[in-house]
Amino acid sequence: MSKIRPEQMRFWSPEVRELDPYVPGEQPKIQNLLKLNTNENPYPPSPKVVEAVEAVLENSADALRLYPDPDATVLKQAIAQQQHVNIANVFVGNGSDEVLAHIFKAFFVQDQPILYPDITYSFYPVYSQFFGLSAQTKIIPLNEQFEIVVDDYKQPNGGIIITNPNAPTSIALGLDAIEEVLQSNPDVVVVIDEAYVDFGAESAVKLVEKYENLVVCQTTSKSRSLAGLRVGFAIAQPHLIAALEAVKNSFNSYPIDRFAIAAAVASFEDQEYFEAQCQKVILSRDKLVADLEAIGFKVLPSKANFIFASLPSKDAGELAQALRERGIIVRYFNKPRINQFLRITIGTDEQNQRLVDTLKQDILS
Ligand SMILES: *Cc1c(COP(=O)(O)O)cnc(C)c1O
Repeated sequence: MSKIRPEQMRFWSPEVRELDPYVPGEQPKIQNLLKLNTNENPYPPSPKVVEAVEAVLENSADALRLYPDPDATVLKQAIAQQQHVNIANVFVGNGSDEVLAHIFKAFFVQDQPILYPDITYSFYPVYSQFFGLSAQTKIIPLNEQFEIVVDDYKQPNGGIIITNPNAPTSIALGLDAIEEVLQSNPDVVVVIDEAYVDFGAESAVKLVEKYENLVVCQTTSKSRSLAGLRVGFAIAQPHLIAALEAVKNSFNSYPIDRFAIAAAVASFEDQEYFEAQCQKVILSRDKLVADLEAIGFKVLPSKANFIFASLPSKDAGELAQALRERGIIVRYFNKPRINQFLRITIGTDEQNQRLVDTLKQDILS
């Protein structure tokens, strides 16, 4: 941000002066850069997605002149079909970050404490603060193995949010554990953020019919290679979707533009391509884990398109810096408990090989 003189801050709302915003992983413009820092998919989206965007442009006069469908009905239909739910179970937003913001507003802004793990998606504390919930947020530590302990979520609360698989740990929770959380908390909303679920974890969408307090949130950004489009969605029973729609229509009635709607629909309709790409990432992950373990890394068991790894013999911050100097960017969090780990996004096999070779032949030799 450009420098702001203290007296210029008088124009800011007092609350905004206190904000501590989310810091996204950087998008540097360096040649021959290998970006393994923001969990983007290394593969392009389905060719049908590109065709769908071009088809929107063919009718460009109307495509750009007219507002998009505020309900993005065709997109909700495509999601409902792919997820085996009804359209009344689907909410869509401008990236799942926006969906999560609406979830906080719709369900968590009340007096009881909301619960989430100490190590999880770093946007949750940002939203807690944004919605004035910092005082009534209860942070629940993961155990020594960086796992979520279900019993810790059996205490009075005003809502729970769990990332599954968790980020940045990459560890997945089974559906039996999630059902236990749901059953122990029948009067509050339990949110499962499944940004990475397509890389090997089990989705809680199949529990939506059974639990009136469950919201499952997913995104097209990672497994569908559409981070540039900003489409996220939530699946829940209609009484919860209605609350999200009320919030959305009090904030921005047209969050998803025509290009994003068309492209996301095409992606959901090309299930075969989607599954093949996810499978490729999973195979590459398993190979990368084996290669890193062979040079001494400890890697947490991953069900995501990233891994969380540490090297006992070298400081993780220094390692991240050494990689950066060689054009490879990974995510390093200088935070308690995880400051000896690197979060590494799974690339193509060639990209992962460059990472391993750089470590082996250059940094650790
Ligand atoms: C990437 C990510 C999101 C946000 O995804 P967008 O749809 O791109 O906004 C939400 N939750 C978690 C845990 C993520 O890692």
